[in-house]
Amino acid sequence: MTTMEMLEKLKTYQEILSERVALEEEIHLLPKTIEAQNEMLSRLKKSFAEKDEAFRKSEQLVKNLRQGLTEAEMAREKAEKQMDGITTQREYEAINKEIRDATEKEQNLRKDIQQEERAFAELEEELQKTDGGIAMLEQEIQDKSSAIDEQKAEKEASIANLRTREAEISEGIGKDILFKLERIIRNKKGVGVVPVHGVVCTGCHMILPANFVNEIRDAENSSVHFCPYCSRILFYEETDEGSEFLGEIESGSLADLADYSEEGEEEPDSEDDDEQDKEEQEKDFPPRKPSSRKAVFPREEFSDDGEE
Ligand SMILES: [Zn+2]
Repeated sequence: MTTMEMLEKLKTYQEILSERVALEEEIHLLPKTIEAQNEMLSRLKKSFAEKDEAFRKSEQLVKNLRQGLTEAEMAREKAEKQMDGITTQREYEAINKEIRDATEKEQNLRKDIQQEERAFAELEEELQKTDGGIAMLEQEIQDKSSAIDEQKAEKEASIANLRTREAEISEGIGKDILFKLERIIRNKKGVGVVPVHGVVCTGCHMILPANFVNEIRDAENSSVHFCPYCSRILFYEETDEGSEFLGEIESGSLADLADYSEEGEEEPDSEDDDEQDKEEQEKDFPPRKPSSRKAVFPREEFSDDGEE
């Protein structure tokens, strides 16, 4: 396999892989679509438990009050019967007081019972409402979950297909190269095989040493080249301004690399997540060297003009 053939394969591989990575991300995000409903459900369940406890307390309270009322009624009736057998004024007054007290107690208890029964009825209604809400929400979640499962199964089937195609297209390409490419695509959420325009990596817009670019251009060369700044796989692509541009900084060497590193630009092979942010900033604010501005226009069409 020539380098050219391998690069073509890598580009195709990259397209398939990007599709698979996107599908995996979609699968990962699927459960989030019912997150809000699940949160609402747990809030409703908590609220139901609280109301249920209040409901039971209220039920017990009504029972106790009714018990108290029965006792007060019995006390009054007993006193009323005693009235028949009294012989002295003193006895009369004592029993009369007993009857009055019991009657007053009965009246108070009846009021309390009425009040508590109203509260009890309200709680019962709320409980039913909450219960209905929970049932509806559970049904909704169940429906959505089945839809999610279906979508997930579809996406997983597509992923399996893509994996098969990946295996086919990548036959004969070193595992380490595939591994690096996959890492780039996952980390940078984008392309891992990019063209060099002039001496600029169109992935990160950094200027590459001229002799390094010459190596990439060399058709005889059979190795895959990685950008020392963003680790993307590089291939050379002719542009109108490329050669003129190359002439300008022909003297560029590895010394340039050192300069950039000191400015705090990306280190080769660095893997932290900041890298991506940094790189996005770079797109908006390309490196300050005036000579690098010329070739920073991102070229998206490389995947179309693959045929030579
Ligand atoms: Zn680069």
